[in-house]
Amino acid sequence: GYASPDDVLRMIKDGEIAMIDLRFTDLPGLWQHFSVPPRAISADSFANGIGFDGSSIRGFQEIQESDMLVVPDPTTAFLDPFTEAPTLVLICNILDPASGQPYSRDPRFIAQKAETYLKATGIGDTAYFGPELEHFVFNGVHYDQGTNYGYYEIDAVEANWKARDGTGLGHKLRPKEGYFPVPPSDTLQDARTRMVTLLERIGIEVEAHHHEVATGGQGEIDMRFATLTRMADSVMIYKFVVKNVARSRGMTATFMPKPLFGDNGSGMHVHQSIWRKDHPIFAGDGYAGSSEAMRYYIGGLLKHAPALLAICAPTVNSYRRLVPGFEAPVNLGYSRRNRSAACRIPMYSSNPRSKRVEFRCPDPSCNPYMAFAAMLMAGLDGIRSRINPGEPIDKNLYDLPPMERAAIPSTPASLAEALDALEADCKFLLAGDVFTTDVLETYVDYKRSHEITEIRMRPHPYEFVLYYDV
Ligand code: GLN
Ligand code: MG
Ligand code: MG
Ligand code: MG
Repeated sequence: GYASPDDVLRMIKDGEIAMIDLRFTDLPGLWQHFSVPPRAISADSFANGIGFDGSSIRGFQEIQESDMLVVPDPTTAFLDPFTEAPTLVLICNILDPASGQPYSRDPRFIAQKAETYLKATGIGDTAYFGPELEHFVFNGVHYDQGTNYGYYEIDAVEANWKARDGTGLGHKLRPKEGYFPVPPSDTLQDARTRMVTLLERIGIEVEAHHHEVATGGQGEIDMRFATLTRMADSVMIYKFVVKNVARSRGMTATFMPKPLFGDNGSGMHVHQSIWRKDHPIFAGDGYAGSSEAMRYYIGGLLKHAPALLAICAPTVNSYRRLVPGFEAPVNLGYSRRNRSAACRIPMYSSNPRSKRVEFRCPDPSCNPYMAFAAMLMAGLDGIRSRINPGEPIDKNLYDLPPMERAAIPSTPASLAEALDALEADCKFLLAGDVFTTDVLETYVDYKRSHEITEIRMRPHPYEFVLYYDV
């Protein structure tokens, strides 16, 4: 079972805990932390929080109103596997000391509100999420962030991507050949096993790990599904473990969606289902074993997809992944088998308890708390407004004649388009105050000013190919 405040306090007292590490997630989705000695934690900490300065946290408070509190969630306690001294990690919510209320820009609070909203609709009591996070492990990347050239060079662990030692030893994976020959083609077996071992030790159940399609060290580790907020916590732990195992072995891991031109990017397909009173409401006798509720949920995901992607594929780089030819969805349709569709209904099992929809557009650069919450809100709007998803598309969408394909709406072409779509279509997120206008405005503004504008001002390397001779 999960720990209570008393359990955690006992753990601290009895164990040889040297430090308590308090973590929370900023608006763009990175883990932030600060540490306190064990004596700083008491029963009161779990009720009234521990103070920190929130003014320099991306997307949080302005300087003049910067005092904030973290409230540790005792059920999240785990030992950091990477520290020298035993360090207990606690994932926290954020409290606004001015109002004494949960902070409205805390992504974890948004996730919790989405779960509360699901219950309030009466549609279900539990939503399960199963994300498949892909990532790359590289030796490193050398880039020049200061000047206007945007120069970079990726130093890949395996394959042809700029092998640094120049030995050209053995069989090197060619682009798109990584799924999934055994070693020595796969050079990351031990690294991924180490990642899985640590995840399981922390209490996160893993179903499988494997090399992914892209060369250069792309991998995937699949966690067993869990409830929304808990799974978002697990995504944060997953990224932490993957990055730190890579780092401890002299490499780096990245979750950026499209680091390599001409090869697959990293997606975060998200399997989702809703249960009511222990009954899987997505199972039925319709198309691919779906219920009407599931088809409406898909209708909601597809209708709101352009807006959703501002949160689920939230970087400029995300849209270099969402192009034809790399197993990433481009067309906003659904299918039982078709991996070129945005929504897939997996057919691995005929058990109604495993019936779920897989939304393939998201990528691991997202803030998982906000992304899971937003997808649930889109699906619930689908069910409440009875949004018909149309006919399934069982042909390869990439192969359709151009006229037929043009009739199917496609994913936004850029983050700028997705943010515009979010502004135009945000009502479904505001239901039940799950998202607030303030948090959406802050988010859109952050993405435009810190990411889109910053990239737009810098000449792209390929512009030199195209325009140097003009
Ligand atoms: N990497 C692909 C994507 O970007 C997915 C590949 C796969 O899991 N089949 O979504
Ligand atoms: Mg997979
Ligand atoms: Mg995959
Ligand atoms: Mg998948």
